[in-house]
Amino acid sequence: MRNNKNVTYYIFGKGSIVELQNIIEKRKKDKNASVVFFIDDFFRDKKIEKNLPINKKNDILIFISTETEPKAGYINFLTACVKEKCDKNLPVAVIGMGGGTTMDIAKCVSILLTNPGKAEDYQGWDLVKKPAVYKIGIPTIAGAGAEATRTAVFTSKKAKLGINSDYSVFDQIILDPNFLETVPNDKLIYTAMDCYLHDIELLKGDNSEITKSLADKSLQLMREVFLKKMNYEKLMIASYLGGCAMATALGGHICHPVSYGLSFVLGYRHGMAVCIAFNALEEYYPDFIEEFRGILKKFKVKLPKNIMKNVTEEQLNQMAESTLKNEKPLMSAFGKNWQKIFTKEKVKKILLKM
Ligand code: ZN
Repeated sequence: MRNNKNVTYYIFGKGSIVELQNIIEKRKKDKNASVVFFIDDFFRDKKIEKNLPINKKNDILIFISTETEPKAGYINFLTACVKEKCDKNLPVAVIGMGGGTTMDIAKCVSILLTNPGKAEDYQGWDLVKKPAVYKIGIPTIAGAGAEATRTAVFTSKKAKLGINSDYSVFDQIILDPNFLETVPNDKLIYTAMDCYLHDIELLKGDNSEITKSLADKSLQLMREVFLKKMNYEKLMIASYLGGCAMATALGGHICHPVSYGLSFVLGYRHGMAVCIAFNALEEYYPDFIEEFRGILKKFKVKLPKNIMKNVTEEQLNQMAESTLKNEKPLMSAFGKNWQKIFTKEKVKKILLKM
């Protein structure tokens, strides 16, 4: 049995970003206290800082590069920057505003400010010993619901693996659907599809009724916006509930493990990698595959083809191995004897279809 931690406070609604000022003011008891803003690079030329309660004298604003998936070295570097700028005092809040990457980075840095060592020391489950700095998550895109989970994923020399800790759960989140209007179509669909695929995997996996109920409602909302009419409020809640489902999940499924190899070896962004993987997993998802392809077609999203054309045997093995490291979700999908059913040869066969 797991003891699940939820996000402590949330605000939801169009325009709710204005509440950030009140929330920060409550934390700043000392007028010299500082707040760290990690903001997605996407907003760099959009002068977003003008509309945010940033005090130029004490606060720290860092735009986060989201060109590639986050790396341990980058997180360690950001932590060192914050420590240097804050001198000996800790910031009173760390804010992550953007997509999953930016929010994950805010989670990691808030942990590393109070825990010694490097990001890679905490990759795994429940390795963080001390509470993190107070943190606020502000998603500006609807994806896997990182704002609701205790996972902060990044890549180190070891692997693509998250810090999974109760201390990485946000203390406050602000869900403002107005942000979704700014997202380019391709990105909106790939990230939303990530949530849609998480929901399917959680429903297929060996999970509790709580997880399945949350995933079911999230999937229903996704279908409403994909198949009927786009609605940013519904999309944002679908993403949040999908994240809540993930946060309570015991078992995943096949699609995500297969996608990790694509990201780790070939560098595909997560949203695209899960779509490429799902498209090749027809035999495991016969009841969803047509709907999935229909949605991509409706939104004019084209998946890359023949991506294994120039891949070496060594790379192929590496991808299969990185898939098979995901013991928990694969056991949830195939049962105790999963290794006999989902063999390395089988994974390679699936990869070669992409
Ligand atoms: Zn995902």
